[in-house]
Amino acid sequence: MKFFVEKVAPILKPSLKLTLRLLRVFEKTQWLSRSELEEIQQEKLVKLCRHFGIRDVRDLDDLKTLPLTSKRDLMDWRPRNNVLGRKPIPQVTSGTTGEPFRFFSDSVELAVKHALALRGWQWSGWRIGDKAIDFTIHDPPGFPKNIYHRLTGWLYLNALRSRDVYRKQYAKVVRKFKPKLIRGYPSFLAELSDFLEVNSKIPAIVHGEPPQLYMSRLLRAFKVYNSYGLSECRAIAFECEHYNLHVAVEGCIVEEVNGEIVVTNLDNYVQPFIRYRTGDLGKLIPGKCKCGRELPVLSPIIGRTYETYRSPTGRIIHPFYFGLLMEKYIKYVREYQALIYPEENIIEIEVVPKQKHVMGKVKLDFIEKLFGMKAKLTIVDSIEREVSGKKLLIKIVKR
Ligand SMILES: [Zn+2]
Repeated sequence: MKFFVEKVAPILKPSLKLTLRLLRVFEKTQWLSRSELEEIQQEKLVKLCRHFGIRDVRDLDDLKTLPLTSKRDLMDWRPRNNVLGRKPIPQVTSGTTGEPFRFFSDSVELAVKHALALRGWQWSGWRIGDKAIDFTIHDPPGFPKNIYHRLTGWLYLNALRSRDVYRKQYAKVVRKFKPKLIRGYPSFLAELSDFLEVNSKIPAIVHGEPPQLYMSRLLRAFKVYNSYGLSECRAIAFECEHYNLHVAVEGCIVEEVNGEIVVTNLDNYVQPFIRYRTGDLGKLIPGKCKCGRELPVLSPIIGRTYETYRSPTGRIIHPFYFGLLMEKYIKYVREYQALIYPEENIIEIEVVPKQKHVMGKVKLDFIEKLFGMKAKLTIVDSIEREVSGKKLLIKIVKR
């Protein structure tokens, strides 16, 4: 399969040629010093800003003088055709906020981000050409694309089919296919792990949701590597052998502004994502990783700003507090979700328990006092997925 990926596939799909060339470059740049990496970022940033008519950005510090942008500012962006020979490629985000967002990417940007992702996935021990399964929330590719993907080692399966019968079927497929890597949402892979009997753990790249809540179930079957990206800027950070989430700085600049992750996509020349607010809460961690890479380390993303809500006591309701509340009982909990009803001033914590009787011991007065809202705990059989396929930890319900 390695031969097919490296020799045949680039002929069938010319964009892969650039991806593989970039991958070889990024395999080297990952070992550069912090200042050398910053030089790469600076050069790319200045060029990108000039392209969009921003002339007063001369170094990385100047970036901080630019205003923050958000989805709303870029909603009606119309790209010029064929800028620098880069054709705009329409994209759409999964719409976790309930409103899908249409934007444009370009072929070079996609190749850079694909190469950075491949590099990040290889930190799990998987190598290009090795067998892998992607549990995707999009429709898996049909004939003849699926044949092409199989020859490159990849099998795509639909993660939105989450009934037990499918999970059992998928567990069989995993056993037979023997992948060296699995990708998927942590909530989905946790469900799958209940049906998997594995002798040795399969490396799994998780994305899209904070994996912390599912960790104990995931670890039964998988060696878990977290990753972080957005549709607007894929391939932002990947976990290394030492489970630190390293920023792929060759493709983006990550800043932390008031606890929120703000990203500059250094490769999109058809639509500017410069100081773009992600809505994700996280922070950059100082210090060096044992792996030797000087790529900066990001804390695991713990939630999204849009899942938060300001309570009557003025305190933001954040997933962190429910983590605290559930800490003692987490081994009895399969999963949970906090539903906030602003009009009734009620927080309802829906719990899928492993052991029902323990749930009566969970004391809710801590939450009630903290937020000045009435809290109740409801036992349920399952937590519903959003249309995006994700499960939200906090959901604001307006009637
Ligand atoms: Zn590392």
